[in-house]
Amino acid sequence: MHVAVRDTVLFSYCESCLLPFKVECHIGYIPSKQRVVGLSKLPRVAEVFAKRLQNPQRLANDICYALHQSIKSAGVVVVLQCWHIQIPKAEMKGSDGLHSHTLKLGMQNWNSMFVHSGFGVFEDQTSVSWRDFLFVARLRGVMGTNDFQDWCPMRPQEISSCNGHDTRNPSKDRYPSKYNDMVAAATTILKSLGEDSLRKELVGTPQRFVKWLMNFKRSNLEMKVLIDSAHGGTKIAVGEIQHELNLQFWSQCEHHLLPFHGMVHIGYIDIEGNSINRSVLQSIVHFFGCKLQVQERLTRQIAEAVSSIVSGGVIVMVEAIHICMVSRGIEKVGSTTGTMVSMGQFSSDIDAKEKFQEIVWNSPNH
Ligand SMILES: [Zn+2]
Ligand SMILES: [Zn+2]
Repeated sequence: MHVAVRDTVLFSYCESCLLPFKVECHIGYIPSKQRVVGLSKLPRVAEVFAKRLQNPQRLANDICYALHQSIKSAGVVVVLQCWHIQIPKAEMKGSDGLHSHTLKLGMQNWNSMFVHSGFGVFEDQTSVSWRDFLFVARLRGVMGTNDFQDWCPMRPQEISSCNGHDTRNPSKDRYPSKYNDMVAAATTILKSLGEDSLRKELVGTPQRFVKWLMNFKRSNLEMKVLIDSAHGGTKIAVGEIQHELNLQFWSQCEHHLLPFHGMVHIGYIDIEGNSINRSVLQSIVHFFGCKLQVQERLTRQIAEAVSSIVSGGVIVMVEAIHICMVSRGIEKVGSTTGTMVSMGQFSSDIDAKEKFQEIVWNSPNH
């Protein structure tokens, strides 16, 4: 007999950068002497090992080994599909919108990998037991080969290979000494989690975490420069609704210090018919996004900034995935949070608002 528990969704924490990663866990086993354990035990064991600093392969090995020890079966197998959040991309600073049709809100852009671990009859991947498990877990055909080098996006910049020797070096000297306190604080966090900060997988983790956080350092927006460069686009019919959709943003939830990211859709009316360059709107979105934020304030601040440039009205809609909510189980993976602020003509003219909503509704990403 084969038993499989599929699709248990977990969150674990990347030992290389401390960011959470999503796990879809599939566990199979073959009971020995027809002794069946309570099925709820399997995901519970998985959850215990997910709640620590991990990489996908060790997580699979830990779960598999623990189950193998405790249920004494003829074989245990664990398959994990894991997703790691990407880092804010440089191109979002001045996106020209050319690639916006490929952007989608969700985890599609996250780094994904399959790993597996097997004991007993599952040690041989060519065995009938393996094939039966893939069938029962409905995994056949989905597992590919993975390159672990691509897993944590905070790592690749550090890797250089010399004649086959891995010369990976977290290069402390690349971190300006002004970040020493932050690196020391992150090391304290590791120790407080009960980890040995000198464990080889954790060397460089505090620096990567600090580097990630510094993406969200407060900065000042040269609002005047922006406004000066805002116009100059084509003039269009006076009073017409103009829009820019799918402006990407990254932000850091100020309540949990975890990222949220998504898309901003902006509609505006200028009574003189001026249009605003997409790159200017993207800069505004980037500026208010890339810091400690909450989504409601982000939405309002973008609307206020745009309304200082145009003379008729502004409407802003933000759609986001909050890692702090999905990783704590408050929201399901894949659920999003939407916010909207309307100002000027959009708050009084229901037709104008509906027109913008139609545009967003009918855009390819919806
Ligand atoms: Zn990582
Ligand atoms: Zn939060």
